[in-house]
Amino acid sequence: MRTPTDTHKRRRRRRRSASPARLEEKRQYYNHLMEEDDAEEERRSRLSLEEKMAENGGELQRRLERNPEITILLQPSPPGHMGKAQCRARDCLFENRSPRLETRIMDDYRAVLISHAREYFHVSCLEKMLDLSSLTPTRFMLDRESYRWNDGWPWTWGLMLRLWFEHGGRIDLAKVKAYIKAYKKFKKTDGVFDTQYIEWQAKHQRECSIDASTCRCPPEPKGPTPPTLEDYKSTTGEPCCLSEVLDHPYVERHTHHIVIYRPSSL
Ligand SMILES: [Zn+2]
Ligand SMILES: [Zn+2]
Repeated sequence: MRTPTDTHKRRRRRRRSASPARLEEKRQYYNHLMEEDDAEEERRSRLSLEEKMAENGGELQRRLERNPEITILLQPSPPGHMGKAQCRARDCLFENRSPRLETRIMDDYRAVLISHAREYFHVSCLEKMLDLSSLTPTRFMLDRESYRWNDGWPWTWGLMLRLWFEHGGRIDLAKVKAYIKAYKKFKKTDGVFDTQYIEWQAKHQRECSIDASTCRCPPEPKGPTPPTLEDYKSTTGEPCCLSEVLDHPYVERHTHHIVIYRPSSL
């Protein structure tokens, strides 16, 4: 008669030593995986870089859709002496351009995908993979955190970038540039006017304030009017590329003065 212990032992023995058939099955399974890998590598080797990037982008897009908590931020790269992040794009555009520097992000700005970890990207790589403008303003944002290397302050973003993020890239860079120029000119004349006004007021108070009816001062000077930002939204055509804004000579201009916007929205 078989005891329960015997049965137990038999079962354990059976589990421990795999049958030749089972081993063969395993071998075939792994071969199959390797063949699949080779086939996949072969398939990808026939794709152009653009096609690869689009494919990687599709994967990334699905990842964003599955994980609504993932956000992407634009941030300035830390200053020169600090370590540079490695681009995480599967087919980084810079991979073959400068092998010595590998795929470190040397640009002024970089993108960071915030998931359980931080994954850094060249903006130009990420732009090939995702439609960045469509991810604004909730999934793709300007980084407002403060940086230790910036004396603990957040980065002061220029007007062009703030507008790009606010309007999902649908802005006319030439109009924004013209406004920034006009505003700079205004500040200059406004500064001259301030001095004129103070001089006028001081003279008037000194000589005429006792009896205003005897005032022989020239009329109160009027200051220049600040320009307003108008018609800068583009409603037709494609949104403008983020990298175009980042390459614009005015990208860091106009960090503080905003005439048309409610301060809360910027
Ligand atoms: Zn890259
Ligand atoms: Zn007077």
